[in-house]
Amino acid sequence: MHKKVYLSLGSNLGERAANLQTAIAEVKNLGEMLQVSSFYETEPVGIMAQPWFLNCAVELETVKMPKQLLAGILRLEQEMGRQRRGDKGPRVIDLDILLFGNSIIDTGGLSVPHPAMHERRFVLEPMTEIAAEVRHPVLKRTMRELRDALPPGQTVRRLP
Ligand code: AMP
Repeated sequence: MHKKVYLSLGSNLGERAANLQTAIAEVKNLGEMLQVSSFYETEPVGIMAQPWFLNCAVELETVKMPKQLLAGILRLEQEMGRQRRGDKGPRVIDLDILLFGNSIIDTGGLSVPHPAMHERRFVLEPMTEIAAEVRHPVLKRTMRELRDALPPGQTVRRLP
């Protein structure tokens, strides 16, 4: 079964744009890449004393099961040299599964829709660019509606 999935990618260490490009190229091994958003420079959330991130979102069509897709992105994070130094600190690359079709998943180690996606401007700006009318399967709001409902405060700048 082909499923349309959305991933969030972020980097705030080293050559951030090159890191996103490498990850995008590798994600193509996990399915068919349908869309890639612009890159956005974004203020860190949580731990503020760290470099700003570059973030983007991608739309992928895949035949993989959710756990297989998660295993694929975790392997990619490791291959790209991500060191886990605590929860929200600097990282070469971070990949999250935002949406997996309309599936609602909450099993050991995987929660989809991603539990924080609706609170994060760095997720909702790129998602509104590539998937404005896609609806969150739990909140029943589109990406654009969720973005428009965010409180002000997280700076996110779309790069040319
Ligand atoms: P982090 O890299 O800090 O975002 O955390 C990664 C861990 O979160 C992984 O080991 C996953 O087991 C878990 N996780 C739970 N839900 C998701 C999701 N939707 N996408 C990616 N990782 C997830």
